[in-house]
Amino acid sequence: MDVWCHLTAFGVVTTPHGAKALMLGDPTILLNQLRSTLGKMEVALGAIVDSIVWTDEDGRIQWSNTTFDRLVNRQRFEVLGTPLLDLLCLEQQSQPLTPEEHPVNRVLHERLNVTGIYEFQQAETRQVLEIYATCIQFKGQGTNAVLAIRDLTERDRLDAELKQSKQKLSLHVQQTPLAVIEWNLDFEVVDWNPAAEKIFGYAQSEVVGCHALELIVPHAAREQVKQVWVELLAQRGGMRSTNANQTKDGRTIFCEWYNTPLIDQNGNLIGIASLAQDVTERKWAEEQLLHSAIHDALTHLPNRTLFMDRLEHAMQRAKRSTGDLFAVLFIDLDRFKLINDSLGHLVGDQLLVAIARRLEACLKLGDTVARLGGDEFAVLLEDISDLSGATQIAERIKQALTLPFNLNGYEVFTTASIGIALYTRSYVQPENLLRDADIALYRAKAVGKACYEVFNLSMHAHAVERLQLETDLRRAIDRQEFQVRYQPIVALATGAIVGFEALVRWHHPQRGLVAPTEFIAVAEETGLIVPLGHWVLQEACQQVANWQVRFPFCQPLTISVNISGRQFSQTDLMTQVSQILQTTQLAPGSLKLEITETVLMENSEPAIAMLLALKTLNIQLYMDDFGTGYSSLSYLHRFPIDVLKIDRSFITTIDTNSKNSAIVQTIITLAHNLGMQVIAEGVETAVQHTQLNQMGCEYGQGYLFSKPVSAAVITTLLTQQYHCRARQLSPHPQHQRQLSKAGKVLPGN
Ligand code: C2E
Ligand code: CA
Ligand code: CA
Repeated sequence: MDVWCHLTAFGVVTTPHGAKALMLGDPTILLNQLRSTLGKMEVALGAIVDSIVWTDEDGRIQWSNTTFDRLVNRQRFEVLGTPLLDLLCLEQQSQPLTPEEHPVNRVLHERLNVTGIYEFQQAETRQVLEIYATCIQFKGQGTNAVLAIRDLTERDRLDAELKQSKQKLSLHVQQTPLAVIEWNLDFEVVDWNPAAEKIFGYAQSEVVGCHALELIVPHAAREQVKQVWVELLAQRGGMRSTNANQTKDGRTIFCEWYNTPLIDQNGNLIGIASLAQDVTERKWAEEQLLHSAIHDALTHLPNRTLFMDRLEHAMQRAKRSTGDLFAVLFIDLDRFKLINDSLGHLVGDQLLVAIARRLEACLKLGDTVARLGGDEFAVLLEDISDLSGATQIAERIKQALTLPFNLNGYEVFTTASIGIALYTRSYVQPENLLRDADIALYRAKAVGKACYEVFNLSMHAHAVERLQLETDLRRAIDRQEFQVRYQPIVALATGAIVGFEALVRWHHPQRGLVAPTEFIAVAEETGLIVPLGHWVLQEACQQVANWQVRFPFCQPLTISVNISGRQFSQTDLMTQVSQILQTTQLAPGSLKLEITETVLMENSEPAIAMLLALKTLNIQLYMDDFGTGYSSLSYLHRFPIDVLKIDRSFITTIDTNSKNSAIVQTIITLAHNLGMQVIAEGVETAVQHTQLNQMGCEYGQGYLFSKPVSAAVITTLLTQQYHCRARQLSPHPQHQRQLSKAGKVLPGN
């Protein structure tokens, strides 16, 4: 067989040893050897991916490897002897080849080596084949064609896929909102997508081949960025960062970068690929959020959180160094509520903003002014040499706030009280320093506002004492430690008792009798005044109702009860009063409620509504302490008030100070013009009595007539009066003495 000859010619005879065997050996052994070699060759040729096919001079297949058999999808016996043209119908650019064009014929007829790419359609599948065909001619034999056929279908598919995914990738790169930038190892731009153009403002043509880092990285950060990139290349890892960048039109933007080294298939570094996203808006929003978390929305000043943070830092610095001194100023506006209520919240807000700006102007760089809430501000003064450094600033702030504010066409005046606490090493917690500034502020308010006070330890003791008072006060209500005293109110012309003012007393188990001036303010601040006031009202109404029943001749006996600001702003005050009147069976006409001028002025609109409501119950209303608050005679007509009580401070000097006496006269006249009656408080001398009587003042109350006394003393007095009336006699001297032990004898009666 030809192949054998061929193999013999190629293989066996070429080996010297084999040649010896060929010539000398047994032909059967030789044949077996050849068969074995041929078998191996068959297997080997069948294992290669290319098809090999051998035809005779007529183009009939003489031999093929199994790869070819698989290609044409035939068994070996179907292949051998079949014309190759029948099994391998080829096309080029989808046009079937004519027999002459078929590579096997070209090789056999034209004796050419043919190389080409062909398509091979078989059933449903279409394959791309690269065919190398050559002719072989052995001596004395016809021409044979040998075709080596490589199936390119898979390669083409992969190529096509690769091409497609490259196209897709490039489309993504073109369309992505992320800047996709490629840099070479000199940090020059190699590629720059449309998003990069959009984000940074430079066209691709402007930057490719340039050191674009110098265009988009702010000058100060360039060296650092280069350094980071050098490290990135060294480590061959990706890296994320958020940086400030600059655009072509000079804007500063913030970009989030993801940079990764580019490595070719041989493992060599070739550059850096960067993805960048403009996160300016997000960063801005984050900054806004952070800002609003630590700043006050109205004034934009730092808020309490930031203030405490700075205070803590100041403390830490001061602890490390020896000389650093700093102080905290706690500032509270005096009567801000009045401005807010009278001119509205808008003006109130404008005032707070204007105050914030003035406070800032009083400070040096590095100091902090914060709004703690409402009308409370705090200042952290750093680097002061001594206390005077703080008091000078407090003085400056005080001065700055006294200038009027022009808000919405209103000229608004305000003052502030300031508490100062100076840092000492004994402070551990920043809160304590602020607390002490607050204690000092409390003192500043107590001594008359519009001033500053420096914290000292006695203030702390006082604050602790006050806290104790508060605790005791809470218990006192449950333990029934309160009593009501009654101070007669007298008709000045006749000296007859027309009623009493109920004044509360506290019998403290350790401290003895505590004056209301000491605890009413605390009760008011803590809200304890509500249950306490309710108890006083109940107790006093019950007492007077009892007296009225027991001493019918002494009618009309009335009772005045003090109503605090806190009580007055309770929405159910009406209900409480009605219930008490009902349970005590006291006629509403016998009850007078005393409300201070300040309470009425501070909430004028709701106050008027409440006064009108109380009037519907037929209760009389007294304006207490008149002259100590705003003394706004012009506002007086707005309030449905029956009686004005002129404050003791005017009465005390009425006999020695002509100016005061003129004021008192004006008040009395005005009150009468408005249909009100007048009670003078704190009448202590007969001269005052006479003078007030001459001025037309109807009633008086004071030590001249009686101090506030217990119900028992009043009962004795009323018993005495009752018997006098009953017998139409003047009071027995013994009874007069009883009353004089508690206070003064009632004159002229
Ligand atoms: P107020 O309502 O102005 O009561 C009059 C105060 O002047 C009483 O003081 C009384 O004892 C005192 N006083 C009366 N005549 C004279 C006088 O001739 N000379 C002097 N030096 N003082 C005189 P008190 O009882 O210490 O009460 C002080 C304040 O405490 C009261 O002033 C009132 O504002 C408040 N208060 C007393 N009891 C109550 C109460 O039950 N509820 C409320 N909310 N406040 C009360
Ligand atoms: Ca009173
Ligand atoms: Ca009073």
